[in-house]
Parts: sequence; structure tokens; C-alpha cells
Amino acid sequence: MARLEDLNYHAHFAALAEPFSVPVTPTPLASPQLVAFSADAAALIDLDPSEAERPAFADLFAGAASISGWEPRAMVYAGHQFGVYVPRLGDGRALLLAEVRDRDGGNWQLHLKGAGATPFSRMGDGRAVLRSSIREFLCSEAMHALGIPTTRALCVIGSGETVYRETPEKGATVLRLAPSHTRFGTFQYFAMTNQHDALKRLLEFTIAEHFPQHRHEADAGLRFFRDVVRRTAGLLAQWQAFGFAHGVMNTDNMSVLGLTLDYGPFGFMDRYNPAYICNHSDTSGRYAFDEQPTVALWNLCRFAEALLPLLDREQLAEALAEFEPQIIEQYSTLMRGKLGLTHPEDDDRELSASLLQLMAAQGADYPRSFRALSQLTGGSTGSSVLAGSGNDDRRFLDEFADREAAANWLQRWRARLAREGSIDLQRQAIQQRHNPKYVLRNYLAQQAIAKAEAGDFSEVQALHALLRKPFDEQPEHERYAALPPDWSRELEISCSS
Ligand code: AMP
Ligand code: MG
Repeated sequence: MARLEDLNYHAHFAALAEPFSVPVTPTPLASPQLVAFSADAAALIDLDPSEAERPAFADLFAGAASISGWEPRAMVYAGHQFGVYVPRLGDGRALLLAEVRDRDGGNWQLHLKGAGATPFSRMGDGRAVLRSSIREFLCSEAMHALGIPTTRALCVIGSGETVYRETPEKGATVLRLAPSHTRFGTFQYFAMTNQHDALKRLLEFTIAEHFPQHRHEADAGLRFFRDVVRRTAGLLAQWQAFGFAHGVMNTDNMSVLGLTLDYGPFGFMDRYNPAYICNHSDTSGRYAFDEQPTVALWNLCRFAEALLPLLDREQLAEALAEFEPQIIEQYSTLMRGKLGLTHPEDDDRELSASLLQLMAAQGADYPRSFRALSQLTGGSTGSSVLAGSGNDDRRFLDEFADREAAANWLQRWRARLAREGSIDLQRQAIQQRHNPKYVLRNYLAQQAIAKAEAGDFSEVQALHALLRKPFDEQPEHERYAALPPDWSRELEISCSS
């Protein structure tokens, strides 16, 4: 574990230089202060976690100081925003601060969000607010703990500086980590500006760096694209199974590595509602929860178009056709896990769909209902009594207004469990790995943010610790698994951050 000065800095993407990125000097945030730090994320770059205690730490990640090896640059990209192509976006309030090679040879980009204006800021101020920086930090680390591919977050730095959004807020930075921040929109930028040499270089670089297994194949580009399709399908299957809505699935927010990228107005569903729109600015519901898989495919089509100057149209179309069967297969596997089924049967889809219909009709809480199901006995043996969960359907039925309909569904589920000779303890263990007890509900994030805005960061840290182990019972933290309070339904999260 090393000090910040001694990390293995090494320019990779930065070495491509222009036209892929341009040098930028951060604009320091006034009176910086450490709000949150992830030792798990620090370990990824071999950073000694005690470095966070250095007085200089907050200055460094507020853009007020620098160390040798950091050469901040802003990356260029374009993208379809709400379906409309914007020819040039780029890092308007984020910087590729440095790149680190870890002890296993992996490369990490240190991306600092909120460090001031860049040539790509357009009308923006280059800042990020404390509220959205905390949301990004907590959600990145929570997603990772759920097993969902994501960018990571090292720290949040708060400040005394005022930043104006709908109301005056506090400015902050968040340091994001990922092997690559290249987006579908990065390729779009070079395709649409007819810089085909640069497009080719970007493709070759991305394959060499992140898909080295294809590097020497004659059809490396196509293999890369097929991998992006596969990773995106896998990512979307997980979002849908965990009840996560991203909120702004513009092509500039889609990672070529299949990571969850750019946490804005995202939301984990409380009450199950397939038409859930987490982004208050999304008036047409383009990015509603149940639209996400379709939007992902639409985005992949735009990505394929950007590759047309280099790859064969027919072959790209064939790769795109793999998206639907892949997401269906992966989503079905996850839903079987949520129901505790190990041997696939044809009508499994109907069984999970009928539960979701019931939940939607009755507004049942998504995480709580599935978690409660994980703790029921299957009716086969009393073995779960050993696990202390008891033979009591109440905790599941209580989530539904119409208990009889829910009880009928339970009967079908138990008949299905009996057909595969399910053993309670094993089945419960599988289900509890698929059905988190704790998720970053909007109201929990909001409570932590309200305290942080008043200078108390303890709740941010408490949530961070809680969500590191989302599948564990953590009985001392039971209240975080409670039904959300009524006021949480009025919470509105917009694009403004
Ligand atoms: P986002 O909605 O965060 O994905 O951002 C979309 C585009 O707007 C990106 O190019 C961002 O860099 C840019 N952007 C968002 N907020 C700001 C801001 N406050 N200042 C400058 N650029 C911004
Ligand atoms: Mg973005």
C-alpha cells in the first residue's frame, strides 16, 4: 500500500493526447474538507487508506494541490441526449486527473468530477454539488457490493463554496475510478466529425487496453463490439432484476466496458412500478424503468453506426441481434435466483411475471417483498427453523394489500419448489444472495445529504458501511430496511446536479 506520491502513475489514454483529450488546470474549490472515503476503492489502486487522514488529501482532490504524475486532461465525446444528437459534449466538469497501474498490471483512470470549467463546459460552471457527489459516491460503492458492474468512487470532498442550481448549494468533488471512461459517445464524436483515422486509433487502443484477448484476431473490431453488446445486456439484466433506474441513459453515459456510468437522478425502486421514472426532468418517460432494455439496444445501434466506417454493416447487425436473447437469458437466470429456483422450467417466466404483476397492482415494496420471500419455508421440511427464520408467511403477506392474492401466488411457488425437490436452507441461501436486504433508497440518501449539508457527515459514512454488505441481515441496522416514510414519495430528483 503506497502513499499518493508513490502510486504507479502511467499515462495511457492521456498519451493518446489530442484530439482525444486536452490539458486542463483544475479550478480549486475553497476550504475543502473530506466528506467520505472508500478504503475498498483505495485498495484498487494500491493506495494506503491512511492517506485519507493527511491534511493535504482534501486539497489534492479539490483541485487545490497537485503531485508529480498528475497531468489533468478533459476527454472529448459527443452523444445522443434524450434522442437528440449533440455533436460535442466532452468532460465539462470532470477531468482525467491521472492514470495508475495497479500491482496486477490493471490500469485505473482517476476522474475528478466538479473541479471547474474545461473547454467542453459550454454554459456550465464545471462544478458538482455536494448532494449529487454524495449520491454518486454512495451508489457507486453500493452497486459494486451488489455485484453490478460500475465505476467506483474513492472520495467526496466538500467545500464552503456556493454553487447555483435551482437553489444555492454547496460545491463538492467526487473522485471516480474506472479502467476506462470511454463512452459510446466517444466513438460517435470521431465518426460524426469524419475523423476516421482517430476513430480507428480509438478502436485499436480500446481493444489493446481492455479487450486484449481479441487483439491479434483478424476480426478484433467485431469481437469487441459483440463483447460490448454482451456486457450491456448483462448490465441491463442486473439493473432490471435489482430494481435500479439509471435516469439518463444518453449515449454519452453508456460505458464501452458495460459499467454503470454517471450517477445523476438514478433511483432504486421502493414500490414496484414498471413505469417508474426516477428523473423529474424526463417528462416523456423516455428513460422509465421498463424502457431501459429497449433504450440500451437503441444506444447500441447508435454505437454500431459510429463503427460503420470501420466494420461491416451485416456483421454489426448480427451482433446487435444477440442483445435480446442475451438479456432475456440473463434476466431469467437472475429472477430464478430471486425466487430460489435452481432447475429451469418453461413457465418460470410466467411465475415471476405474475408476482411482479401482483406487486405492481398493489404497490408492494420491491426489495422488501423479495427479501421476505427469501426467508419463508418452502413447506418441504422444518429445516429453516434451524436458521431461525420460522414458518411464518406473514412477513411476505404483509407487503400486499390483497393478502389472499399473495397467498395464492405463494401456493403456486411452493408447488414449484416441491417439483424440484428444493431444500429450504439451500434455497434460502441462494435467494438471500439475490435479494438484498439493504439498498440505497432515495430517502436514505436524502437523509444523509441533509445532515451533510449541515456539516455532519456521519450518516453518509453509516450508509456507506451498511451498503458494503447489502445481503447481510445486520440486525442492528434493521431500521434501514423499513418501508420508506410517506414524504419520500414526494422526493424529486432532476438532471440538475
Ligand atoms: P451529464 O448530464 O452529467 O451526463 O452531463 C452531460 C454533459 O454536460 C457533459 O458533457 C457534462 O460534462 C456537461 N455538464 C453537466 N453539468 C455541467 C456543469 N455544471 N458544468 C459544465 N458542464 C457540465
Ligand atoms: Mg454524463
